[in-house]
Amino acid sequence: MTQLHPFPVFHCLILVLAAPVSPTTSPYVKVERGDPDTNVIISSPHGGRVKIEGGWIRQQGSLIEGKCDYDPQIDGPKVPGKCKVITVSDHNTQELARIIRDTIHNRTGIQPHFVASDLHRSQLDPNRKRMEASQRFSVAEAAYDTFHGAIDNFSREVEANVGSGIVYDIHGYVKYAADDWIMLGYNVRKGDLNSGVFDDHESSIKAMARRSNYTFTDILLDAEISLGGIMEGKGLKTCPSPSYPKPNMGILGGYYRGGHITREHGSLYGGNVDCVQIEHPPTMRGLDDIGVYGVEVGDAIVEWMDIHYNN
Ligand SMILES: [Zn+2]
Repeated sequence: MTQLHPFPVFHCLILVLAAPVSPTTSPYVKVERGDPDTNVIISSPHGGRVKIEGGWIRQQGSLIEGKCDYDPQIDGPKVPGKCKVITVSDHNTQELARIIRDTIHNRTGIQPHFVASDLHRSQLDPNRKRMEASQRFSVAEAAYDTFHGAIDNFSREVEANVGSGIVYDIHGYVKYAADDWIMLGYNVRKGDLNSGVFDDHESSIKAMARRSNYTFTDILLDAEISLGGIMEGKGLKTCPSPSYPKPNMGILGGYYRGGHITREHGSLYGGNVDCVQIEHPPTMRGLDDIGVYGVEVGDAIVEWMDIHYNN
């Protein structure tokens, strides 16, 4: 006769209670834990290649009373040019994000956390609010919750273990390719950068800016202490930077200040984890290019963090 021992039940109960709250997990999101003392989270929302056969393809939203509603169950008016969804992926950016992560690990000895969506952007866009991102496709909804839940959990760990840190949200653009520069998104509006008059009140690096002894202008534009300045020092054309402080210095004047992830997971609304969106130019994203380029970007990040985070 087998004697039931109470310990295994008790043991399981403890594990359940101790586990972080995670309502869903998706096989279409890579969640890779870094070292306990890391203060860096690398995210890759748009580099996924998996298309679920028969799954929902994201569609244009309805324009209702001047606002876009992306719920596919709402049969509202579709207006040309309005409420569009972007379904092209950021080519090779998951691979690039991994090289940047590996470089930070190699230089510092500390492995950053890593979160990447494997679903193609036509089925999930983690850089949008949940309905626009997933449009009630349950596979995409689970991936969305897993992606954002993982960044949240890692951010709380960084705050608990290190105190402060940062998310680097890795993207690649095509539309303004003529300028061929890296766009650094601190959630500062393009018009404000163009005017030369801006401050940190809407910024996704507000926490770092407010504890820094440097001015916000220097944090964004100084040759020695800004991420753009350090990248320029490595020969990487970057905006904003000392040479290109204003997006309107570009051929087309295009610029992405950061998206949903930058606002949601940076320090705009509080906390001590910042976020910078890094938009990489198409010429640097061939598989032959990202090896050298990704190491240069990773090196710049390490140098910038030594000034602003690791002291
Ligand atoms: Zn993107």
